[in-house]
Amino acid sequence: MSVTLADILAARQRIAGVAVRTPLVPSPHMSRISGADFLMKLETTQPIGAFKLRGALNAVAGVAAGAPGVTCCSTGNHGRGVAYAAKARGLPAVVCMSSLVPQAKVNGIRALGAEVRIVGRSQDDAHRESLRLVRDDGLTEIPPFDDPLVIAGQGTIGLELLEDRPDLAAILVPLSGGGLAAGIALAAKAIKPAIRVIGITMDRGAAMAQSVRAGTPVDVEEVASLADSLGGGIGRDNKLTLSICRDLLDDYVLVTEQEIYDAMQTLYFEDGLVAEGASVVGLAAVMAGKVSAGSGPTATILTGRNVDMATFTDVVSGRGVTLGDVELKGHAYGA
Ligand SMILES: *Cc1c(COP(=O)(O)O)cnc(C)c1O
Repeated sequence: MSVTLADILAARQRIAGVAVRTPLVPSPHMSRISGADFLMKLETTQPIGAFKLRGALNAVAGVAAGAPGVTCCSTGNHGRGVAYAAKARGLPAVVCMSSLVPQAKVNGIRALGAEVRIVGRSQDDAHRESLRLVRDDGLTEIPPFDDPLVIAGQGTIGLELLEDRPDLAAILVPLSGGGLAAGIALAAKAIKPAIRVIGITMDRGAAMAQSVRAGTPVDVEEVASLADSLGGGIGRDNKLTLSICRDLLDDYVLVTEQEIYDAMQTLYFEDGLVAEGASVVGLAAVMAGKVSAGSGPTATILTGRNVDMATFTDVVSGRGVTLGDVELKGHAYGA
């Protein structure tokens, strides 16, 4: 089982018309800081507000029309993507969640047309129910990242990046389970082998970076983070993304919560864009001097905009933010 450029080209055909071909826009402010053209791909403009629609659409397209439906247990952007993709393809979707998930997230997924099933008190309980639906009701599980169709769907971002800017020297990719980074690296390096693809994540819970170093999936503790979409492990029985990231990513860079806070403010005040913490880790890495963009035009992916608005307004207003046992001191932009 592997993923090729041909799979990614096929994915592009399948997702066209529902997933948006998103704009790649320059950031004059970030270009000044980095000393080279700095570009941002606005996956925030997808209809679910995040890139995960691409992989979900490609995976749902692999399910036969008239099949009983699809299921997953993500409460975040993957759940939104699966709900939207299933509805667009006329298939039922059941998203399983634990009773601890906030009502706003339940409502958000319901509004996209999926059935939400509340089971148990943990993500594990929700996942067990999802597997039971596969076994007993014949639903197809759509995995969040470790799946060839999902990886190929996310890889369509790599095609679009190099069509718009063939001169790109580096791509900074927000990294969690690695479906996005694996897909982009496969596409971009097939087209332009010399391009650098760098995975960026938060320093607390960098599952993929630690797993690549260890050579095997490493469990990480889940902690509260401004980049909540980057939380979680890569799966103990990881089949694809660990080896693809190991083979194709050029580097891993970790950023702190304070650096993410500063990057969210900067994106808002300099570029007028609202994005979740996971989206801005590429900016955070450049602003902190942790990647040098000096080698040429650099792009990052603004992966999503589904941020808790109370937290977002705290950040852009310069108020402090409490993340579990970590207190981030606030400051006004530029102060
Ligand atoms: C899922 C997600 C990521 C990370 O994607 P992976 O394929 O898990 O590495 C980054 N940003 C946002 C907003 C996401 O929802």
